[in-house]
Amino acid sequence: MSEPGRLLEVFSSYQGEGPYAGLKQVFVRLSGCHLRCTYCDTPGSWETSASWTVRGESRPNPVTVADALEAVRSFGPHPSVSFTGGEPVLQPDFVRALALECRTLGMRTYLDTSGTLADRLARCADAIDVFAFDIKLPSCGGVRMDWEDTRNCLELARGREAFVKVVVMQDSREDEVAQAARIVPPEMPLVLQIATPVNPATVPPDGATLARLRAACGREVLVLPQLHVLAGWK
Ligand code: SF4
Repeated sequence: MSEPGRLLEVFSSYQGEGPYAGLKQVFVRLSGCHLRCTYCDTPGSWETSASWTVRGESRPNPVTVADALEAVRSFGPHPSVSFTGGEPVLQPDFVRALALECRTLGMRTYLDTSGTLADRLARCADAIDVFAFDIKLPSCGGVRMDWEDTRNCLELARGREAFVKVVVMQDSREDEVAQAARIVPPEMPLVLQIATPVNPATVPPDGATLARLRAACGREVLVLPQLHVLAGWK
């Protein structure tokens, strides 16, 4: 029996980032994050929450795997479930147990993670079908990362379905983007995601900066915005 989890919300929407944008998913947003990235669009997930919501109803944390599964199931058939946050792998045993249950509903399991906690990712990786890594650049405010740890996270997803996104801003450094690109295995799609200006410190890159950052990657790269922001999806 897995430990209970601490959630923020469970809802149905469409994936808004990377190569899977537009995919209908049930989102399981876990609460709690060890980082404070400048560009974070979900600061409400930073602290562990005392309650979570589903369909506008508030429920107390912690929540059992069975109750979380019931919330996922309540949205009806969906091709995929997304574990997002916060940082989901802070609760690896809960994520693993819930993901395995979601597979029995015929859903593919998708994990959003910062790629900074390889030891915890290792505890749930076998239950994940698609890995979406949000690799951090060390000079971004609020980030603590270590390239070796990130490399180990990517190694856990090697040969599996996975992609890497790097959020870029006007002040992102070419050498750091280049280093991120170097550690991404060639078979993993790499996305430069244009930062959404969620606060005054988050300035999206202008065209010239974006071109320089793209060139610094030295490999094929997709440049994408957050589609859910443009489309008005949650
Ligand atoms: S890791 Fe994700 S949830 Fe945590 S601060 Fe960074 S962007 Fe926000």
